[in-house]
Amino acid sequence: MPCGTTSLRSRNATVPRRRAKRLTPAEIVDRLSQLYGEPVWRPHGDPMSELVLTILSQNTSDANSGRAFMCVRSRFHTWEDLLAADQEEIVPEIQAGGLARVKAPRIKAILDQVWGRLGSFDLMFLKDKPLEEAKAWLRSLPGVGPKTAACVLMFALGRPALPVDTHVHRVAQRLGLVPAKVGAAEAHDILEAMLAPGEVYPFHISLIKHGRRICRAQRPSCERCPLLDGCPAGQTFIGVQSH
Ligand code: SF4
Repeated sequence: MPCGTTSLRSRNATVPRRRAKRLTPAEIVDRLSQLYGEPVWRPHGDPMSELVLTILSQNTSDANSGRAFMCVRSRFHTWEDLLAADQEEIVPEIQAGGLARVKAPRIKAILDQVWGRLGSFDLMFLKDKPLEEAKAWLRSLPGVGPKTAACVLMFALGRPALPVDTHVHRVAQRLGLVPAKVGAAEAHDILEAMLAPGEVYPFHISLIKHGRRICRAQRPSCERCPLLDGCPAGQTFIGVQSH
């Protein structure tokens, strides 16, 4: 149940600390959907663009990576053009996304590998591959880890692969879904195994929103979190604040 405006003191009095019953992913999605709205999954069907965009989004904001993507696509209209371009021509076009000297060769290496394997840049075949094979194919490309592969599969192709970014990882750890010592890369398989295919997208979107707005890295607002009664970390935070 949403805790709404309940004060820290009264919340602390009614909730036994460190005894939170772990919430199921379905309960988490349901409660967060009531707060942020129900995410609607609309795969856009362009996996090559999603792959390049996700590389550009590494270590920067969505706004910056989006700008870099628009710039590079308006300069190089086809993937063939981008593959043929000199790295020094690409770097200024993707400056907005940061780390341009790392990302430009990475993107070129990916394009080169895709072209070498397929003779095209059409990744739609990944829609019909068994999910683990599709992930493995993408992850065998240079610079593509579990998060990037999952972004391509989920956002472009509507496959139930879960990207675990810093927000999803932090919130899931605090909720006790992922052990404290497990990093984001390893958390992909753990979390995905808990989710029904239809829960993957809403879980991802809801946890990102929650991580940005309430379950922030510093000073999470546990007192207004609808997951508090099922969150071991939140009840510890609340207990510390009330003493
Ligand atoms: S109770 Fe606190 S720590 Fe737990 S999910 Fe909510 S904001 Fe995050």
